This record gives sequence, structure tokens and C-alpha cells, in this order.
Amino acid sequence: MARRKKLYEGKAKILYEGPEPGTLVQHFKDDATAFNAEKRDVIEGKGVLNNRLSEFFMDGLNTIGVPTHFIRRINMREQLIRSVEIIPLEVIVRNRAAGSICKRLGIPEGEALPRPIVEFSFKNDELGDPLVSEEHIIAFGWASQQDLDDMVALALRVNDFLSGVMLAVGIRLIDFKIEIGRIWDGDFQRLVVADEISPDSCRLWDIKSGDKLDKDVFRQDIGNLAEAYTEVARRLGVLPAMATQMTKPHLIN
Ligand code: UDP
Repeated sequence: MARRKKLYEGKAKILYEGPEPGTLVQHFKDDATAFNAEKRDVIEGKGVLNNRLSEFFMDGLNTIGVPTHFIRRINMREQLIRSVEIIPLEVIVRNRAAGSICKRLGIPEGEALPRPIVEFSFKNDELGDPLVSEEHIIAFGWASQQDLDDMVALALRVNDFLSGVMLAVGIRLIDFKIEIGRIWDGDFQRLVVADEISPDSCRLWDIKSGDKLDKDVFRQDIGNLAEAYTEVARRLGVLPAMATQMTKPHLIN
């Protein structure tokens, strides 16, 4: 294959120039990081699983009319996506308290929230992605009021879809993060779900046992991350044979 131009390398993914204008290739690495990259490891098979899982969720969203950047999977680790202008915000939706909201507001982990709560963080590693208000977002010009309304609507549709899909396989969606991008069509812009949706960016708890099946397994050193992600993929029927061999040989036959 001809050597492609690398456009960006992040903690878990690489973006390459795509085959046609307006497209990119998104490559999923095996690297895991937490606490703003203070904790790092390489988890064999994670990239393959996240490529498949993100495909599964984004494809499902496209099918129900929630626009995403996803076009198609190319191979085990790569997918073709639309090039978007990423809005520099992490959009977080919470159904139950976990992680930073527990620390910030003293809410016990696992407590059901009165309604889904949408939060925004400013994407800036040096500052540790600080929580920001709609006032900050508009005052600093990161997004308009119309964008904000559209982002909240998109995030809540993603929440309904993901919650339902996970509930059907016995998993509770505690919270998740998405990123949103702009696609320009002349002067007209559309907002689409971008980046990835995977257990790296969601909190997923088994409904019966309460076991964590997401990146908290790595953050908190409470088990085998690849096995947890494989379990999510297995329940959703999204299980590439190779990843199975790499992580849980006894599962295939
Ligand atoms: N999250 C993420 N990337 C980030 C920060 C958060 O994907 O840079 C996800 C995280 O996995 C969780 C949700 O967003 O599903 C809410 O995270 P929280 O604010 O509780 O932060 P954390 O406890 O992860 O620092």
C-alpha cells in the first residue's frame, strides 16, 4: 500500500489522509492512557476491539438518522471517516454518578441522577480538560447558542440509543463522552458525532453483577481490560475472531 500521510497522532488513535477529499483514515492503537496520560500501557487487541465497537455504535446511529463521521471499516484497525472540524469540547452525558461528578459534588458512585445530565469540558490536555459552562463556550466563541442546542440534542439521542442497545445485553450505560464535528457544505454547516464511541469513552456496568466493563478496569487496576472489552463485544455480537484469539482463546470453538 502506498505510504499515507499521517495528519495527527493522539493517545489512542492516528489519523491519516483519506483516499478521497473530505475523508480520513482513523487507526485505532493498542495504547491505553488514563489520568491525562500519567498512567500508560499497551493492551494487546484493544485497538481491534474499539475499531469494531465504534463501527457498531456509529453505524447504528447513522441508521437511525443520527449523523456521524463514520463511513465504513477498512480493516481490523482502521475505518474511513469524514473529515470534520472538531469542536474543542468533550460532551459528556451522565445517567448515574461516577468519576469526576462524584468528586466534584460528593455524590455516591452509582447513584441514579434525576435526569440525564449533559456537561461540557474544554478539550485541552495541558489544563486537564476543565469543565466549562455554556457561558464560557459562547463567550470564547467555541460554539454558538444554536450549536449548543444542537449538541445537547445530538448527545441525548446518542444517550437514548446507546442506553437501549446496552440494556438489551444486560449492561447499564453510566456515562459517556462524545466529540462533535462540523461538516461544511458551502456556507451551510452540519454537526455530526465524531471521534469514537467505545468502552474507552463510556462507563459500562454489568446490570446483574455491577462489574465494570470499561476503561475504569485500567484506571483502577481491577482486572483485565481486553477481557472486559471482549465481553462487551461478545454480548453485542461484534467479535472479530482475531481479537478473540488474542484475548480469550477459550471463547472460540
Ligand atoms: N471521558 C473520556 N475522555 C476524557 C474524559 C472523560 O472519554 O478525557 C469519559 C469517561 O470515560 C467517562 C465520561 O467521559 O465515561 C465521564 O468522565 P468523567 O468526567 O467522570 O472523568 P474521569 O473520571 O474519567 O476523569
